[in-house]
Amino acid sequence: MKNNVLRILKSSREYISGEEISKEFHMTRAAIWKHIKSLREEGYNIESVPSKGYRLISSPDLLIQEEIEEYLSTDFIGRNIIHYDSIGSTNKDAKEVASTSREGTVIIAEEQTEGRGRMGRAWASPKAKGIWMTIVLKPKIEPMKVARLTLLGAAAVFNALGELNVKPQIKWPNDLLLDGKKICGILTEMGAELNMVNYVVMGIGVNVNFDEEDIPEEIKDRATSIKIYKSVEIDRKELTANILNEFEKLYVKFCETGEMGDSIKICRENSIFLGEEVRIIRGDEVRLGKAVDIDENGQLVVEFSDNNIESIYSGEVSLRGINPA
Ligand code: ATP
Repeated sequence: MKNNVLRILKSSREYISGEEISKEFHMTRAAIWKHIKSLREEGYNIESVPSKGYRLISSPDLLIQEEIEEYLSTDFIGRNIIHYDSIGSTNKDAKEVASTSREGTVIIAEEQTEGRGRMGRAWASPKAKGIWMTIVLKPKIEPMKVARLTLLGAAAVFNALGELNVKPQIKWPNDLLLDGKKICGILTEMGAELNMVNYVVMGIGVNVNFDEEDIPEEIKDRATSIKIYKSVEIDRKELTANILNEFEKLYVKFCETGEMGDSIKICRENSIFLGEEVRIIRGDEVRLGKAVDIDENGQLVVEFSDNNIESIYSGEVSLRGINPA
């Protein structure tokens, strides 16, 4: 009911009388007042003028369903948002609820206390400074193909940032960078049987409104934010919705046809390492080679120093520039 009150307030720039709200939702004036009070406590600035009614002045910077949906154009991605003020990790939570959640459910937290990157590495996720979200997916594809979804995620974030006139570089397979520093990381995990995917959770972390002092000391040399890059505060709600909008388009096409040419093109054309010497790190083993292409399966094609050309599967390696960082 509180959400209905919020929706009606959002639907108009004018005052809405208590009588109108009470008629629309069969609510007593006391009930309306209770909901208004609770919305104010959440950070909504709602004006009330005795003979006119209520008017929404401003909304809080929160990545909740009611705030994001006004920018959403999707059919199912982001139509069910589970929001936390603080959580260990959105991917961890998503894995716990995946089997009972409908496809497209998104877990979003204002802060992660145990955010993770690939291979268990920590992902800094300070409160209200970024977008820390995980999308629950149920693609009917072979487990081997799940890694490809990461490239769809990277392309979706790339496209969404394009709407802000920001053009990041993509570090295959899962990071986006500005000025050579990371602003987004994607972590795709799955629950599967030998030949069948039960669920995929795709975690997307974007450093949106970090100031320099929000970046932990140990990653200052390799992390930045969109705000630092653009010198302007970014609307997290709109960016969240845009990422989901872009992702659904690429994802639906991929599920229906297996086609991911658009995403590969974006990753290829904006790749940070293509044409360059790289180090391919697999556990303790480091191999030198030249990154020559991203193939139609989303794998990185590397020409190794012994002239062997191999397609690298993203799950198993880390890619670095030639100079240790
Ligand atoms: P690799 O290239 O070695 O595979 P990766 O690029 O896949 O690494 P991830 O595992 O995705 O990296 O991310 C974890 C790493 O990202 C951390 O070890 C840290 O260096 C860095 N990091 C952690 N938090 C952030 C953040 N908020 N923004 C940018 N970088 C971060």
